[in-house]
Amino acid sequence: MVVTYEQALSIVQDNIRAANRVPEVETVLLDRAFRRVLAEDVTADRDLPPFHRAIRDGYAVRSSDLTGLPAVLRCVGEVPAGRTFEAEVRPGQCVSIMTGAPLPEGADAVVMVEHTVSRGNDIEIQRGVQPWENLVLRGREAPQGARILARARRLRAAEIGLLASVGKATVAVYRQPCVAILPTGDELVPVEQPPQWFQIRNSNSTALAAQVKSANGVPLELGIAPDRADPLKEMIERGRDSDLLLLSGGVSMGKFDLVEEVLAELGAEFYFRGTAIRPGKPLVFGRIRDLFFFGLPGNPVSTFVTFELFVRPALALLSGAAFEAPVFLRARLAKPFRQKTGLTMFLPARVQMQDRDPVVEPVGWQGSGDLVGVAAANCFLVIHPGQTELAAGDWVDVIPKEQ
Ligand code: AMP
Ligand code: MG
Repeated sequence: MVVTYEQALSIVQDNIRAANRVPEVETVLLDRAFRRVLAEDVTADRDLPPFHRAIRDGYAVRSSDLTGLPAVLRCVGEVPAGRTFEAEVRPGQCVSIMTGAPLPEGADAVVMVEHTVSRGNDIEIQRGVQPWENLVLRGREAPQGARILARARRLRAAEIGLLASVGKATVAVYRQPCVAILPTGDELVPVEQPPQWFQIRNSNSTALAAQVKSANGVPLELGIAPDRADPLKEMIERGRDSDLLLLSGGVSMGKFDLVEEVLAELGAEFYFRGTAIRPGKPLVFGRIRDLFFFGLPGNPVSTFVTFELFVRPALALLSGAAFEAPVFLRARLAKPFRQKTGLTMFLPARVQMQDRDPVVEPVGWQGSGDLVGVAAANCFLVIHPGQTELAAGDWVDVIPKEQ
C-alpha cells in the first residue's frame, strides 16, 4: 500500500502516539540539557525582572518634574548595575543610572543620556518621559510562581538561558530514545576499510548517527548486515531493546532486497510500504511487537531525506516532545520547473536572499545517490504533485536541510 507524503506523516504520528510511550525521567546538569525534552513544569522562582530594571543608560527621574523643558535637575548619586541607591530621589533631583540597574525609590522613569547635558551636578533634561518609560517593571516578564516552561518542551539555547535565569542548575528531562541503525548491502564496507573497486563505503550509518544525535536520540550502530536472510534476522534481533530501529537499503524491488521479507518473518506489522515521494519512494514503516522501525531506502540522499521527513518527527514523539512535522517555508523559484511524476518531490537546493526575497534553486545532482549534491544544498525544494508547471519567480515551499 503506497501512501501520499501527508498520509505517511499522519500514519507515523498516529501509530507512535497511540503507543503512548512516556519515557523515563532523569535529572541532568543544565549544561547537559541542550536539545533534551523537559520532563517538568518550571516556574519563576522570583519575579522576572526582580526589580524595576533600567533598560537605558541615563538619569532616573520623577516624570512629574519634567513638565517645563528643558528642566534642570540636581544629580545626587549614581546607580550602576549590581548596586542600589539607598536614598530616595526627591523632587528636583535625579540619579545617574545604567542599563540593568534597579530604579531608586522616588523615581518613576529613566531619561536617556542622549537627551541630557551635564554641567557638573546640574543635569539639563531636554525631553520629557512618561511614567515608567525606559524601564521593565518588576515581574512584567513573569511574576514569581508563573509557569515559564511546560513539560514536553524541547530545550534549545533560549530555553536553557531561561532555565538558568530562574536558578535551575539541574533539570528533569526525559530519557533519550535509543535508535538502532542497521545498514544492509553486500557491497558495503566500513568507513575505515579500503574498498575494492566494486564496493561502497557505508556512509549511511555515520550520517544517520549524526542525524539521530541532532534529533535527541542515542544512536546504536549495529554493524553492516549482508543481503542474506539469516544474518539479517540475527542482526535485527540485536536492535530489539532499542526504542526505534532504522534499517537502510534492501527495500526496493531487487532480487536481494530482503528487508521486508525478513521483517515479515519476524512478525512485523507494516503501516505503509512505499510513499509517493522522490527521493525515498520505497520507504516502509511498521513495528515488530513493541519496536517501531523504518526501512529507509539505501541511496544516501533518500536515507537522509526520509530521516528528515519522517524519522525526526517520530523521534520527537519518542523523546516525550510534541510531534514536530517538517515546517515548510516559502521562497521564489529562480528558474522555471516542470514535473510529471505525480509525486511530492524534495530536491536538494540552495536558498539565498536576493533583493529582500528568498530565492531557491535546485543544486545540480545526479539523483538519489549523490551526497555531493546534498552537501552543497542548504534546503530541499518541495514540489507538490499538482505543481506540474512552475515559472521563475513563483512562490514555492522549501524545508531547511536540518530543522
Ligand atoms: P538499496 O536501497 O539497497 O537498493 O541501495 C540503493 C543504493 O544505495 C545502492 O547504490 C547502494 O550501494 C547504496 N547504499 C545502500 N546502503 C548504503 C550505505 N549504507 N551507505 C552508502 N550507500 C549505500
Ligand atoms: Mg542493497
